[in-house]
Amino acid sequence: MRIDLHCHSTASDGTDTPAELMRNAAAAGLDVVALTDHDTTRGYAEAIAALPEGLTLVTGAELSCRIDGIPMHMLAYLFDPEEPALLAERELVRDDRVPRAKGMVAKLNELGVPVTWEQVERIAAGGSVGRPHVATALVELGVVPTVDDAFTKDWLADGGRAHVDKHETDPFEAIRLVKAAGGVTVFAHPAASRRGRTVPESAIAEMAAAGLDGIEVDHTDHDADTRVRLRGLAAELGLLVTGSSDYHGSRKTVSLGRYTTDPEVYGEITRRATGAFPVPGTGGP
Ligand SMILES: [Zn+2]
Ligand SMILES: [Zn+2]
Repeated sequence: MRIDLHCHSTASDGTDTPAELMRNAAAAGLDVVALTDHDTTRGYAEAIAALPEGLTLVTGAELSCRIDGIPMHMLAYLFDPEEPALLAERELVRDDRVPRAKGMVAKLNELGVPVTWEQVERIAAGGSVGRPHVATALVELGVVPTVDDAFTKDWLADGGRAHVDKHETDPFEAIRLVKAAGGVTVFAHPAASRRGRTVPESAIAEMAAAGLDGIEVDHTDHDADTRVRLRGLAAELGLLVTGSSDYHGSRKTVSLGRYTTDPEVYGEITRRATGAFPVPGTGGP
Protein backbone atom coordinates (compact mmCIF):
# COMPACT_ATOMS: atom_id res chain seq x y z
CA MET A 1 0.00 0.00 0.00
CA ARG A 2 1.44 3.39 -1.01
CA ILE A 3 0.36 6.26 1.22
CA ASP A 4 1.25 9.95 0.69
CA LEU A 5 -0.09 12.13 3.52
CA HIS A 6 0.94 15.66 2.49
CA CYS A 7 -0.14 17.27 -0.81
CA HIS A 8 -1.19 20.75 -1.94
CA SER A 9 -3.67 21.81 -4.64
CA THR A 10 -4.71 25.15 -6.13
CA ALA A 11 -6.87 25.56 -3.00
CA SER A 12 -3.59 26.87 -1.56
CA ASP A 13 -0.22 27.08 -3.32
CA GLY A 14 -0.17 23.90 -5.39
CA THR A 15 -0.55 23.97 -9.18
CA ASP A 16 -2.88 20.95 -9.65
CA THR A 17 -6.57 21.56 -9.09
CA PRO A 18 -7.96 19.22 -6.43
CA ALA A 19 -9.45 17.06 -9.21
CA GLU A 20 -6.13 16.93 -11.11
CA LEU A 21 -4.33 16.07 -7.89
CA MET A 22 -6.60 13.06 -7.33
CA ARG A 23 -6.09 11.84 -10.90
CA ASN A 24 -2.32 12.37 -10.68
CA ALA A 25 -2.20 10.53 -7.34
CA ALA A 26 -3.91 7.52 -8.90
CA ALA A 27 -1.60 7.69 -11.92
CA ALA A 28 1.40 7.77 -9.54
CA GLY A 29 0.24 4.46 -8.10
CA LEU A 30 -0.87 5.78 -4.73
CA ASP A 31 -3.53 3.93 -2.73
CA VAL A 32 -4.05 6.74 -0.21
CA VAL A 33 -3.50 10.47 -0.67
CA ALA A 34 -4.07 13.31 1.80
CA LEU A 35 -5.18 16.76 0.68
CA THR A 36 -3.43 19.17 3.05
CA ASP A 37 -3.78 22.71 1.72
CA HIS A 38 -2.53 25.61 3.83
CA ASP A 39 -5.18 26.70 6.34
CA THR A 40 -8.12 25.67 4.18
CA THR A 41 -10.44 22.76 3.44
CA ARG A 42 -12.00 24.32 0.37
CA GLY A 43 -10.53 21.74 -2.01
CA TYR A 44 -12.35 18.82 -0.39
CA ALA A 45 -15.59 18.81 -2.42
CA GLU A 46 -13.85 18.90 -5.78
CA ALA A 47 -11.34 16.22 -4.73
CA ILE A 48 -14.08 13.90 -3.47
CA ALA A 49 -16.13 14.38 -6.64
CA ALA A 50 -13.13 13.46 -8.81
CA LEU A 51 -11.74 10.63 -6.65
CA PRO A 52 -10.82 7.68 -8.89
CA GLU A 53 -11.76 4.15 -7.93
CA GLY A 54 -9.02 2.47 -5.89
CA LEU A 55 -7.71 5.72 -4.41
CA THR A 56 -8.65 6.75 -0.87
CA LEU A 57 -8.66 10.40 0.18
CA VAL A 58 -7.60 11.52 3.64
CA THR A 59 -8.96 15.01 4.25
CA GLY A 60 -6.61 17.36 6.06
CA ALA A 61 -4.94 20.75 6.18
CA GLU A 62 -1.53 22.21 6.95
CA LEU A 63 -1.97 24.83 9.65
CA SER A 64 0.35 27.87 9.87
CA CYS A 65 1.70 28.03 13.41
CA ARG A 66 4.37 29.94 15.30
CA ILE A 67 6.19 29.11 18.51
CA ASP A 68 8.59 31.57 20.22
CA GLY A 69 8.84 33.52 16.97
CA ILE A 70 9.64 30.42 14.89
CA PRO A 71 7.15 29.68 12.10
CA MET A 72 6.15 26.00 11.84
CA HIS A 73 3.55 23.89 10.05
CA MET A 74 1.13 21.47 11.68
CA LEU A 75 -0.55 18.82 9.56
CA ALA A 76 -4.06 18.02 10.72
CA TYR A 77 -5.95 14.96 9.48
CA LEU A 78 -9.53 13.76 9.51
CA PHE A 79 -10.92 16.57 11.66
CA ASP A 80 -14.51 17.73 11.29
CA PRO A 81 -14.20 20.60 8.76
CA GLU A 82 -17.34 22.27 10.15
CA GLU A 83 -16.22 22.29 13.79
CA PRO A 84 -16.65 26.00 14.64
CA ALA A 85 -13.59 26.76 16.80
CA LEU A 86 -11.07 25.22 14.40
CA LEU A 87 -12.91 26.74 11.43
CA ALA A 88 -12.73 30.19 13.05
CA GLU A 89 -8.99 29.79 13.64
CA ARG A 90 -8.36 28.80 10.00
CA GLU A 91 -10.36 31.82 8.85
CA LEU A 92 -8.45 34.07 11.22
CA VAL A 93 -5.15 32.92 9.70
CA ARG A 94 -6.46 33.29 6.14
CA ASP A 95 -8.45 36.47 6.57
CA ASP A 96 -5.80 38.28 8.53
CA ARG A 97 -4.83 40.49 5.57
CA VAL A 98 -7.12 43.41 6.29
CA PRO A 99 -6.49 43.61 10.07
CA ARG A 100 -2.78 43.28 9.38
CA ALA A 101 -2.74 46.09 6.81
CA LYS A 102 -4.84 48.26 9.15
CA GLY A 103 -2.33 47.54 11.92
CA MET A 104 0.49 48.77 9.68
CA VAL A 105 -1.47 51.94 8.88
CA ALA A 106 -1.94 52.55 12.63
CA LYS A 107 1.77 52.09 13.30
CA LEU A 108 2.63 54.48 10.44
CA ASN A 109 0.23 57.07 11.91
CA GLU A 110 2.04 56.72 15.24
CA LEU A 111 5.28 57.41 13.37
CA GLY A 112 3.73 60.62 12.02
CA VAL A 113 2.97 59.35 8.50
CA PRO A 114 -0.49 60.61 7.44
CA VAL A 115 -1.46 57.45 5.55
CA THR A 116 -5.14 56.44 5.74
CA TRP A 117 -6.91 53.12 5.38
CA GLU A 118 -9.06 54.62 2.59
CA GLN A 119 -5.90 55.39 0.62
CA VAL A 120 -4.59 51.83 1.00
CA GLU A 121 -7.97 50.40 0.00
CA ARG A 122 -8.05 52.61 -3.10
CA ILE A 123 -4.57 51.39 -4.09
CA ALA A 124 -5.55 47.74 -3.56
CA ALA A 125 -8.49 48.36 -5.94
CA GLY A 126 -10.54 45.44 -4.71
CA GLY A 127 -7.64 42.94 -4.69
CA SER A 128 -6.62 41.21 -1.48
CA VAL A 129 -4.75 43.90 0.39
CA GLY A 130 -1.12 43.38 1.38
CA ARG A 131 2.14 45.08 2.28
CA PRO A 132 2.87 46.22 -1.31
CA HIS A 133 -0.28 48.39 -1.20
CA VAL A 134 0.78 50.01 2.07
CA ALA A 135 4.22 50.53 0.53
CA THR A 136 2.68 52.22 -2.51
CA ALA A 137 0.83 54.60 -0.20
CA LEU A 138 4.18 55.58 1.33
CA VAL A 139 5.48 56.34 -2.18
CA GLU A 140 2.37 58.44 -2.94
CA LEU A 141 2.94 60.42 0.23
CA GLY A 142 6.59 61.01 -0.69
CA VAL A 143 7.81 59.19 2.42
CA VAL A 144 9.99 56.87 0.32
CA PRO A 145 11.00 57.17 -3.35
CA THR A 146 10.07 53.59 -4.37
CA VAL A 147 8.11 50.60 -3.10
CA ASP A 148 11.38 48.74 -2.49
CA ASP A 149 12.49 51.53 -0.17
CA ALA A 150 9.42 50.85 1.97
CA PHE A 151 10.55 47.24 2.50
CA THR A 152 13.32 48.22 4.92
CA LYS A 153 13.72 48.00 8.70
CA ASP A 154 12.74 51.69 8.88
CA TRP A 155 9.29 50.87 7.51
CA LEU A 156 7.61 47.61 6.46
CA ALA A 157 10.30 44.90 6.34
CA ASP A 158 9.90 41.99 8.79
CA GLY A 159 10.71 43.46 12.17
CA GLY A 160 10.51 46.99 10.75
CA ARG A 161 9.06 49.92 12.71
CA ALA A 162 5.65 49.70 11.00
CA HIS A 163 5.58 45.95 10.39
CA VAL A 164 2.81 43.75 11.76
CA ASP A 165 3.26 39.96 11.97
CA LYS A 166 0.84 37.64 10.22
CA HIS A 167 -1.52 35.86 12.57
CA GLU A 168 -0.29 32.31 13.10
CA THR A 169 -1.63 29.74 15.52
CA ASP A 170 0.15 28.67 18.69
CA PRO A 171 0.93 24.98 18.07
CA PHE A 172 -0.44 23.94 21.46
CA GLU A 173 -3.68 25.68 20.56
CA ALA A 174 -3.62 23.93 17.15
CA ILE A 175 -3.19 20.53 18.82
CA ARG A 176 -6.06 21.29 21.19
CA LEU A 177 -8.37 22.61 18.45
CA VAL A 178 -7.69 19.73 16.06
CA LYS A 179 -8.24 17.16 18.82
CA ALA A 180 -11.51 18.85 19.80
CA ALA A 181 -12.56 18.59 16.13
CA GLY A 182 -11.79 14.85 16.16
CA GLY A 183 -8.55 15.14 14.19
CA VAL A 184 -4.96 13.95 14.42
CA THR A 185 -1.88 16.23 14.38
CA VAL A 186 1.51 15.64 12.79
CA PHE A 187 4.28 18.26 12.99
CA ALA A 188 5.28 18.84 9.33
CA HIS A 189 8.98 18.80 8.31
CA PRO A 190 10.11 19.65 11.88
CA ALA A 191 13.81 19.90 11.00
CA ALA A 192 13.62 21.70 7.64
CA SER A 193 16.50 24.01 8.51
CA ARG A 194 16.81 25.64 5.08
CA ARG A 195 13.45 27.30 5.82
CA GLY A 196 15.04 29.13 8.76
CA ARG A 197 15.32 28.45 12.48
CA THR A 198 13.77 25.15 13.57
CA VAL A 199 11.79 24.29 16.68
CA PRO A 200 13.99 22.81 19.48
CA GLU A 201 13.49 19.19 20.52
CA SER A 202 12.43 20.34 23.98
CA ALA A 203 9.42 22.08 22.41
CA ILE A 204 8.57 18.96 20.40
CA ALA A 205 8.62 17.02 23.68
CA GLU A 206 6.22 19.55 25.18
CA MET A 207 3.94 19.20 22.15
CA ALA A 208 4.05 15.40 22.51
CA ALA A 209 3.00 15.79 26.14
CA ALA A 210 0.18 18.09 24.97
CA GLY A 211 -1.20 15.44 22.62
CA LEU A 212 0.75 15.78 19.36
CA ASP A 213 0.28 12.49 17.47
CA GLY A 214 3.30 12.37 15.22
CA ILE A 215 6.13 13.99 13.29
CA GLU A 216 6.84 13.95 9.58
CA VAL A 217 10.28 12.35 9.23
CA ASP A 218 10.68 11.28 5.60
CA HIS A 219 10.50 14.61 3.78
CA THR A 220 12.61 16.14 1.04
CA ASP A 221 13.91 18.84 3.42
CA HIS A 222 15.44 16.26 5.82
CA ASP A 223 18.79 14.63 5.06
CA ALA A 224 19.63 11.05 6.08
CA ASP A 225 21.20 12.03 9.42
CA THR A 226 18.24 14.22 10.30
CA ARG A 227 15.83 11.37 9.62
CA VAL A 228 17.76 9.04 11.90
CA ARG A 229 17.74 11.66 14.64
CA LEU A 230 14.00 12.35 14.23
CA ARG A 231 13.16 8.63 14.26
CA GLY A 232 15.02 8.36 17.57
CA LEU A 233 13.17 11.36 18.95
CA ALA A 234 9.80 9.94 17.86
CA ALA A 235 10.58 6.60 19.53
CA GLU A 236 11.62 8.40 22.71
CA LEU A 237 8.46 10.53 22.78
CA GLY A 238 6.02 7.86 21.59
CA LEU A 239 5.18 9.77 18.41
CA LEU A 240 4.02 8.32 15.09
CA VAL A 241 6.44 8.69 12.16
CA THR A 242 5.13 9.71 8.74
CA GLY A 243 6.67 10.25 5.33
CA SER A 244 5.17 12.38 2.56
CA SER A 245 6.00 14.20 -0.64
CA ASP A 246 4.69 17.68 0.28
CA TYR A 247 3.73 17.77 -3.40
CA HIS A 248 3.00 21.23 -4.85
CA GLY A 249 2.53 20.26 -8.51
CA SER A 250 4.98 22.05 -10.80
CA ARG A 251 5.73 24.69 -8.10
CA LYS A 252 8.30 22.33 -6.57
CA THR A 253 10.19 19.39 -8.01
CA VAL A 254 9.10 16.66 -5.57
CA SER A 255 6.84 14.07 -7.20
CA LEU A 256 3.75 12.43 -5.70
CA GLY A 257 4.65 9.39 -3.60
CA ARG A 258 8.34 10.40 -3.39
CA TYR A 259 8.11 9.62 0.34
CA THR A 260 5.38 7.51 1.87
CA THR A 261 3.91 6.52 5.22
CA ASP A 262 3.92 3.02 6.69
CA PRO A 263 0.47 1.37 6.41
CA GLU A 264 0.51 0.58 10.14
CA VAL A 265 1.01 4.23 11.00
CA TYR A 266 -1.76 5.17 8.57
CA GLY A 267 -4.02 2.63 10.29
CA GLU A 268 -3.24 4.17 13.67
CA ILE A 269 -4.05 7.69 12.36
CA THR A 270 -7.42 6.50 11.07
CA ARG A 271 -8.13 4.71 14.38
CA ARG A 272 -7.39 7.85 16.41
CA ALA A 273 -9.47 10.16 14.21
CA THR A 274 -13.13 10.66 15.00
CA GLY A 275 -13.89 13.86 13.08
CA ALA A 276 -13.99 12.39 9.57
CA PHE A 277 -13.39 9.08 7.78
CA PRO A 278 -11.10 8.45 4.83
CA VAL A 279 -13.12 8.69 1.61
CA PRO A 280 -12.87 5.69 -0.73
CA GLY A 281 -12.94 6.55 -4.45
CA THR A 282 -15.97 5.46 -6.40
CA GLY A 283 -14.78 6.44 -9.84
CA GLY A 284 -16.37 9.89 -9.89
CA PRO A 285 -19.49 11.00 -11.76
ZN1 LIG B 1 4.89 23.03 5.24
ZN1 LIG C 1 3.11 21.48 2.76
